Amino acid sequence: MEIYQPIFTTFVLVEEKLIQILEKSKHNEKENAAFLKRLKKQSKQNIDQSFHQEHDAVFDRIDCLDCGNCCSTTSPIFTDQDTKRLSKLFRVKPVQFIAEYLRTDLDGDRVLKSTPCPFLMDDKKCFVYDVRPQACSEYPHTNRKNMYQILDLTQKNSLVCPAVADIVEHLREIAPKKTFR
Ligand code: SF4
Ligand code: SF4
Repeated sequence: MEIYQPIFTTFVLVEEKLIQILEKSKHNEKENAAFLKRLKKQSKQNIDQSFHQEHDAVFDRIDCLDCGNCCSTTSPIFTDQDTKRLSKLFRVKPVQFIAEYLRTDLDGDRVLKSTPCPFLMDDKKCFVYDVRPQACSEYPHTNRKNMYQILDLTQKNSLVCPAVADIVEHLREIAPKKTFR
């Protein structure tokens, strides 16, 4: 089961620089996919350390409020706990919340009926931020443990999220100087 499911991979309205980062990642899609495949042979610790360092560095440079591309083009998976929290916020029953906003995909996961996410506001803030789905709070997952388990997902996310794109591009560029090749 994927943690975050792309619906469309075309981005909308992100800042110029972020668009360029994503374009570069799309252009280098094959190279990045091959690099991430090779990376799987490295130690778990090495992979985690590299991603976590890059994650911290990239989110010092990128402000999600300049972007919003994940919320504009993809859907998180909504767990039962997520729908309970959100339905409470809207003061409706979970079944009503589900009927209004969600559908079940081919994998049996609950996802948004459509994108952009209905809770994404014009200023790119999240209307339900404090009770947003867990998948949203953990996206783009580049600071989680055991990154080796989600390198395929990370490759997909590098086509949606400029932060992930930047991380993967940079790791691939510095690879010859590090232990992974
Ligand atoms: S719930 Fe909030 S964080 Fe999650 S996709 Fe919607 S707008 Fe984005
Ligand atoms: S997580 Fe990535 S795609 Fe989402 S808003 Fe932040 S930089 Fe953009």
